[in-house]
Amino acid sequence: MIIAIDGPTAAGKGTLARSLADHFGFAYLDTGSIYRALASLVRESGLDPENQEEVTGLALKLSATDLQRNDLREEEVGQLASKIAVYPRVRQALLDFQRNFAETPPGEAKGAVLDGRDIGTVICPNADLKLYITASDDVRASRRHKELIDKGVAAIYAEILADLKARDQRDQSRSAAPSKPADDAIVLDTSGITAEAVLEKALGLVADLRC
Ligand code: C5P
Repeated sequence: MIIAIDGPTAAGKGTLARSLADHFGFAYLDTGSIYRALASLVRESGLDPENQEEVTGLALKLSATDLQRNDLREEEVGQLASKIAVYPRVRQALLDFQRNFAETPPGEAKGAVLDGRDIGTVICPNADLKLYITASDDVRASRRHKELIDKGVAAIYAEILADLKARDQRDQSRSAAPSKPADDAIVLDTSGITAEAVLEKALGLVADLRC
């Protein structure tokens, strides 16, 4: 079984994807971490992020260990990830890894959960279940703000909100695999709903599939 979860930043898709994968013993791939790992390598290597050829060259060399880099959650890395994610050749270079993960999950898992922006539309158009997880701008910015404060990172709410809107705008308006719900995706708005309630809803949808 393949479960595709898409949606904008801080909508709760990672939490849901991880919980579903744990629940069913499926493999989980956070595809945002792939773009973040590439962004982190671009920053470290001093490559020009505006040079699609060079960034694509780096994308082709990306390895699984790069997904463990410790700066992936930085705000700057997220912004840079969204800038290089607009390049069609970069996306193409990363496509097979994601598709293979979904179709042949590691560890002989009986299924895979992938979250990102284009899982239901491009990576796994035949996924068994497609969810698009969203929440209001305010709720998403508040969640991100709290997450940073809890980690002891200084964060200004207004800046977080502005960054989040800029990233959404870039992700949704790019021509290559724009972030949007697949036609057959079920949209869940998580504003004002607990993560447990979202999981319950998703488990119900999986149960419906199996009937
Ligand atoms: O999900 P996360 O915020 O970690 O993703 C970082 C960035 O990577 C996104 O803003 C988006 O531009 C890009 N991304 C993408 N396609 C995916 C996953 C992430 O374009 N499937």
